[in-house]
Amino acid sequence: MTVRRTKVVATLGPATDSLEQIEALVAAGLDVARLNFSHGTAEEHARRAAWVRQAAERQQRYVALMGDLQGPKIRISRFQQGKVQLQRGSEFVLSRHHPENAGTAAIVWVDYPQLIDDCRVGDELLLDDGRIVLRVTAVEDGQVRTQVEEGGELSDRKGVNRRGGGLSAPTLTDKDRADIRVAAELGVEFVAVSFVRQGSDIDATRQLVRAAGSDAWLIAKIERAEAVANDDTLNDIIAASDGVMVARGDLGVEVGDAELVGIQKRIIQHARTLNKLVITATQMMESMIASPIPTRAEVSDVANAVLDHTDAVMLSAETASGRFPIEAVRAMARVCLGAERHPISSRSHHRLGEVFSRRDETIALAAMYAANHYPGVKAIVSLTESGHTPLIMSRIRSAVPIFAFSRHAGTRCRMAMVRGVRAVAFDPHQYEAAELPWAVLDCLMQRHDVEPGDAIILTHGDSRAESGGTNSLTIWSVPEA
Ligand code: PGA
Ligand code: MN
Repeated sequence: MTVRRTKVVATLGPATDSLEQIEALVAAGLDVARLNFSHGTAEEHARRAAWVRQAAERQQRYVALMGDLQGPKIRISRFQQGKVQLQRGSEFVLSRHHPENAGTAAIVWVDYPQLIDDCRVGDELLLDDGRIVLRVTAVEDGQVRTQVEEGGELSDRKGVNRRGGGLSAPTLTDKDRADIRVAAELGVEFVAVSFVRQGSDIDATRQLVRAAGSDAWLIAKIERAEAVANDDTLNDIIAASDGVMVARGDLGVEVGDAELVGIQKRIIQHARTLNKLVITATQMMESMIASPIPTRAEVSDVANAVLDHTDAVMLSAETASGRFPIEAVRAMARVCLGAERHPISSRSHHRLGEVFSRRDETIALAAMYAANHYPGVKAIVSLTESGHTPLIMSRIRSAVPIFAFSRHAGTRCRMAMVRGVRAVAFDPHQYEAAELPWAVLDCLMQRHDVEPGDAIILTHGDSRAESGGTNSLTIWSVPEA
């Protein structure tokens, strides 16, 4: 049986709010559960996190948790009637003076004081992921006047973006700081940071995450126009992170949909080159919110991200609030597997002409070169503390499975995000150095991952305990008897 390499992230929400539902998600192929701190209470997230751990345990699967911080999303407040109809050509005012929950079709309160300083006459403001388009006609004391260019229904608490980006809200809010503590308590393997502007935003978040007692890996959500404006900024963000998310919802609004595909490919490529994870997100199976089967366009979009070599593909409303969450995960898993059969998924463009900066990186890439060129290799095994070596390995395209053998439960769960990597519980300290390869072979045999005659590639460090200490690569054959 072919094992899927690309990982599936699904957002939990009201549609997946029971142990049974989450069990079904895991059975359908869920690798990483996303707790979206933009919605729901700390209690709800804690309950769902516990169910994920329970379901994974029962099905003997490694499923990671990702806490996604809301960030400084600018939102309008509420309307008297919950929603209004905006007519094209009419005036609509975003105001600091209007009462907070009494919006009308003419005026609404907005929760972001600097909006007035940041906006200029002629700017284009996009509400509700770009469904509503407003043109700024005047910036006055405490309010922004606009003319409606694309009208339609507008309901409570919808987000506001500016075309071209550049709204100055700082990256972490008080709510984010509180949510970091919640995420740390839940033991999440990943923390996603919204609306990152530069690498230092990630450094600051990492300090807070570590101070809260969490060793989570940090995912920078790329969703501001200025984050992708030039390669220096993008690479600065990627280098500061453990991985990035192509957050196509907000990004698409800020840069315009025509630019989005090219930028997605650029982000994926840069992340892989810098040895970081990458998740492709938002509206991947959007029609499955209301339909049990995806459209051909959605199938093609997911497959295209797989061919670009994303680590993971993500579902948002499809699983959080849609009618067919299980079907959505199943469809995504199926489409990933199909796309992985395309030869481009396993053929590597080697990093020829590059200089490596670390010993473990050199060993990891040498292992992939060996695996892709030496016939009969059926497994690459990395004895790993942090998961860093298998992460670097899987930046290289291959059809050979990568096994992360680790004694740390957190590391094993984290591998659920990494393309082509499967985690195995294994404590190298239980063996003498000379026994180690045979213990690894034995373990793979028992799992039915290799057969007599197969070759395996093993990497590890001398100390067997030091993170980043990988310095050896050996090739072994599974004995005939
Ligand atoms: P969100 O992030 O779902 O938190 O907005 C993803 C995106 O913007 O695409
Ligand atoms: Mn977003």
